[in-house]
Amino acid sequence: MNLIEQNLTAIREKLPEGVTLVAVSKTKPIEDLQEAYNAGQRDFGENKIQELIYKQPLLPSDVRWHMIGHVQTNKIKYIAPFIHLIHGIDREKVLVELNKRAELEGRVIMGLLQIHIAQESEKFGFDTKDVENLIPHLNERYPHVQIKGLMGMATFTRDTHQIANEFKGLADFFHRCIETHGMAWDTLSMGMSGDYELALKAGSTMIRVGSSIFGARSPH
Ligand SMILES: *Cc1c(COP(=O)(O)O)cnc(C)c1O
Repeated sequence: MNLIEQNLTAIREKLPEGVTLVAVSKTKPIEDLQEAYNAGQRDFGENKIQELIYKQPLLPSDVRWHMIGHVQTNKIKYIAPFIHLIHGIDREKVLVELNKRAELEGRVIMGLLQIHIAQESEKFGFDTKDVENLIPHLNERYPHVQIKGLMGMATFTRDTHQIANEFKGLADFFHRCIETHGMAWDTLSMGMSGDYELALKAGSTMIRVGSSIFGARSPH
């Protein structure tokens, strides 16, 4: 077994039933993605649209591509034909453009609403209040976008209590949207290499793991 395969196996062993592992392959060469693919990995996450459209034709067509980064609306058209799930829907402008491009492609594109749960102000996302106002109108305004749930990123800190609290807050809000607003949601994307075990404890259904699979990324 090569290292990527070993890492994938070690993480999969810790995953509860029904949790999806998205392998975050940003900055990594195609050979690394191919190794993960050969080890059975099908969900891959990238945070830049340029990189997604470069890599997508180089891997087999049964790969499910996830856009996990901040979305520049003028580039949505390039991924609209093939993207599986957009995690970082953080403002209504993204929904408007996504709906338009999905309609032109004759498809429905799945996405997650990103919620701002971290203390750092530079992380993107909606406030929960905005989302509660928005969700009753999603289907009528954006019929070509199917929202499947929520995504969030915890504060980058060593304080595991704080991280666990932020994940719990997001999970509570996720369940409130389902119970109070009747949303048919099944996806709660939270947890990365450093904090996915805390996220799983809080009820994550999708973790986005990069460096624990592919090794550290070199800083740009
Ligand atoms: C890079 C990235 C990840 C993965 O980070 P690791 O710490 O390498 O696991 C997860 N989510 C988002 C949004 C990212 O940009």
